[in-house]
Amino acid sequence: MTYDIAIIGAGPSGMTAALYSLRAGKSVLLLEKETIGGQISSSPLLENYPSINKISGLEFSNNLFQQIIDLGVGFELDEVIDIEKDKDEFNIKCQFSCYKSKSIILATGVKHRHINVENEEKLIGHGVSYCAVCDGAFYKNEDVCIIGDANTALQYAILLSNYCNKVYLNTLFDRFFGDNILIERVKERNNIIIEHNLSLTKFKENEGELRGLIFKNTKTNELKEFTVKGCFIAIGQIPDNKKFSNLVSLNNDGFIITNEKMETLTPGVYACGDCKEKQVRQVVTAINDGAIASIYACQYLDSLK
Ligand SMILES: Cc1cc2nc3c(=O)[nH]c(=O)nc-3n(C[C@H](O)[C@H](O)[C@H](O)COP(=O)(O)OP(=O)(O)OC[C@H]3O[C@@H](n4cnc5c(N)ncnc54)[C@H](O)[C@@H]3O)c2cc1C
Repeated sequence: MTYDIAIIGAGPSGMTAALYSLRAGKSVLLLEKETIGGQISSSPLLENYPSINKISGLEFSNNLFQQIIDLGVGFELDEVIDIEKDKDEFNIKCQFSCYKSKSIILATGVKHRHINVENEEKLIGHGVSYCAVCDGAFYKNEDVCIIGDANTALQYAILLSNYCNKVYLNTLFDRFFGDNILIERVKERNNIIIEHNLSLTKFKENEGELRGLIFKNTKTNELKEFTVKGCFIAIGQIPDNKKFSNLVSLNNDGFIITNEKMETLTPGVYACGDCKEKQVRQVVTAINDGAIASIYACQYLDSLK
């Protein structure tokens, strides 16, 4: 079967593009490599989505997914490895299968930035995590450490402080870069211990499990050790679009360049959400982009007839 639209990534942007496209009567294949909902599914609380007071990221994602399932989306849990254009069709090569579509919407978001200190990769799932919502419960009543200084790190600290013993929140610079409301909430919690000017130098491990962290104070050069079994790294995100560079142009940071219609270099290929070059990366802006990408992808499809 050749789908009208193949959407790569089931985050808020991709799922919104699916919603609009299905409602326009198009056949839609949604391909996701990891988690339905993308990044927001790992957020404990979404509080800045208009008209919804408070909702967990997971519930928000599940609601949106159910909405497009009800409309008949084709969904596959498969990672897109490569896409080639062949006349007016696209051949989509995935890890497990291959698919065909007449147009493409790239909604691949961003992935967690790693801290690149020795043993990091080896300890992922053995004490090192990038998602407090996913892995926080493993450390109930334990001491944990969060590395990061912006909203994600602040949100993780609040969440973990509900059930962990001590939550060390260590930042590289001398301040936070997140929203004041979150900074205030963090400061109100007695079991969150904030330490600034710390640069991670070592993951301490024993038999493949994290046993501690050693930081260097960037002002005094003193070393400081934290005996923790859990470390949550929240130091930002990076795009992963190189595999699509045969179809789209990327800026110096690897984000996809589009115009206001979310069109890319290749006719029939659109990009939306966090994976594209833009100033503000939020759920509302991802959803906005997804709707626009879908509307112009549908116009493109109609022009083929
Ligand atoms: C902890 C946390 C808290 C946040 N809190 C808020 C908040 O309170 N309010 C707010 O507005 N925003 C928040 N954000 C930001 C918000 O989640 C993002 O801006 C939004 O999710 C972007 O949506 P997206 O669909 O563009 O990308 P993403 O959510 O990143 O989704 C992209 C999806 O594409 C998939 N994918 C990537 N490459 C491939 C491939 N090759 N094949 C198949 N699938 C692929 C990924 O697995 C992912 O599921 C938060 C983010 C985090 C991490």
